[in-house]
Amino acid sequence: MSTMPMPNATAPAGGTHEQPAADQNAKTVTKQLARGDLPPPETVDVMHDHIYCDGAGFGDGEVYHTCANIPAALGHPRVFLTIPPGQAFVDCTYCDRRFAMAG
Ligand SMILES: [Zn+2]
Repeated sequence: MSTMPMPNATAPAGGTHEQPAADQNAKTVTKQLARGDLPPPETVDVMHDHIYCDGAGFGDGEVYHTCANIPAALGHPRVFLTIPPGQAFVDCTYCDRRFAMAG
């Protein structure tokens, strides 16, 4: 890389004057992407304390439910989860989906 292009012919002695507008814009975009890209954690009501999740759906007892609103990119290896006794929910370690006991 070469030295930074200085558009102003008479540069200030301080050197603290950097293109403020462009720099700020870049930071804002990065922040929005990092924050807005991920969907918020989803809470799923289940009937059993033994469930499994594969990202695209989850097994609740004998029944497999497909989560149609989940992109295929979020799929992951099937992982079995157990809601600990005395606890109301368990989080999938892969996709952060939360399984909460209904009733
Ligand atoms: Zn999952």
